[in-house]
Amino acid sequence: WFTQPLLVLVFGASGDLAKKKTYPALYDLWQRGLLPRQTLIWGFARTKWTTQQLRVHLCRHVEHSDRIHRFLDLCYYRHGKDYGDMSAISSIFQSCTKLHNLLVYLAIPPQVFTDATLALKQVLSQSRVPGFVRVVLEKPFGHDSTSCQNLLDSLKEQQWKESELYRIDHYLGKEMVQNILMLRYNNSWLQHIWNKDVIQSVHILFKEPFGTDGRGGYFDSIGIVRDICQNHLLQILTLIAMELPKQLTSAAVRDAKVKVLKSMPVLRPRDCLLGQYEGYSDDPTIADKNTKTPTYVCLRSFVNIPTWEGVPFVLEAGKALDERLCEARLFFRGSGTNALVLRLQPQPAIFLSTNMKRPGFSMSPIHTHMGIEYGEHCIVPEAYTRLLLDVLRGEQASFVRDDELVAAWELFTPLLKSIEMRSPIKYQPGMDGPLERENLLKSMEVGKPWSPPRASL
Ligand code: NAP
Repeated sequence: WFTQPLLVLVFGASGDLAKKKTYPALYDLWQRGLLPRQTLIWGFARTKWTTQQLRVHLCRHVEHSDRIHRFLDLCYYRHGKDYGDMSAISSIFQSCTKLHNLLVYLAIPPQVFTDATLALKQVLSQSRVPGFVRVVLEKPFGHDSTSCQNLLDSLKEQQWKESELYRIDHYLGKEMVQNILMLRYNNSWLQHIWNKDVIQSVHILFKEPFGTDGRGGYFDSIGIVRDICQNHLLQILTLIAMELPKQLTSAAVRDAKVKVLKSMPVLRPRDCLLGQYEGYSDDPTIADKNTKTPTYVCLRSFVNIPTWEGVPFVLEAGKALDERLCEARLFFRGSGTNALVLRLQPQPAIFLSTNMKRPGFSMSPIHTHMGIEYGEHCIVPEAYTRLLLDVLRGEQASFVRDDELVAAWELFTPLLKSIEMRSPIKYQPGMDGPLERENLLKSMEVGKPWSPPRASL
């Protein structure tokens, strides 16, 4: 693919995701010399911009070096009347005299996904693309089991093959998430402790120190369970819980993840604590001032494969909490503090929360850690850059397959329906969640690892 002409088509080029993630990732790949020399990047949307206006917009919003203008020379723009506008899309193809491979990025809201894919399919039936056609889809992939299935059916009816579709969950592109399988695969000592005999519980935690900040309208229709747990945290869970396949091929990894999801019992409302921070509905974009949408959730699940029988997997996520943090903590049996911690953010790190002798004459133990933090010296690519490179390479392991999606929605849909009836418990912004959290975590066999001060790792 690297030596062949590439067309990148960005649907929704005028939007937020395009400027924040899609174009920056393409620029990053270009700067690293990872795009073919003959690459053209066409933006497409309804906004009546010219190519020059797109370039000015990107120059303003994409963090750049003085090489940006050379990159912008590759970027063009065409507007259409809507996302099903075949003649506008087709004119882009006609203007590309050299075209071998096609990467389409759908940075558009889900209600226009299928219009876009249908128009694209029809245009492709008339334009010859000799190489690959790959389409990147953004979450949300449905709102529940039924809407997810409808979306999958539409794509099948339009004759899209699963091998052409790349559903992004950007957590799968994060350094520490990519590291989970590497660590497990390449350390035999880890393989010996990675089971119910040694691990008492697994706690996957996401904390954000801010609320909806005036953008609650969209969040209010989905809530924290759909926004964080059903996708990002569940993906981390499957990578931790899955049986290691003999080889880490895309098919084998995704098969193993699906096996985990299918083994999990449907989530029960009684295993779930819901919270909402005080002042959430003051956000002017939230219409329903009595909204019951949760901004915090802590829920327990189980993975019913022999390796993990009886081990609680606890997913916890919240907004307006005390800090920004995302970690997976594997607690060792018999201790509330000994844990292996994989930190995704704010800075990737991995450490063993450990007890050792206090230095000196004392024979008392102190809490400490053994670990590594990825410092500034360590170049960690942005998740979107890595994932787009995977798309170009045809590497699908870090993208969500259709059966994985169906299984994930089946797990969560009954819980999501029951949540609509429940009133979440209020908590103060800046706390670590509702007051009930501590006792609940204790009852779920989740401890508190000793966390080293950030700079000392
Ligand atoms: P957006 O800015 O609201 O929409 C992208 C573009 O789509 C807009 O510039 C607009 O372009 C067009 N559009 C918006 N609403 C439309 C409508 N009702 N009908 C037809 N076209 C419409 O959205 P976004 O934040 O870029 O997100 C795009 C997709 O990525 C969504 O599915 C979103 O859930 C997902 N996503 C976004 C982020 C993020 O950080 N923004 C993160 C993860 C996932 P024109 O009016 O010019 O056509």
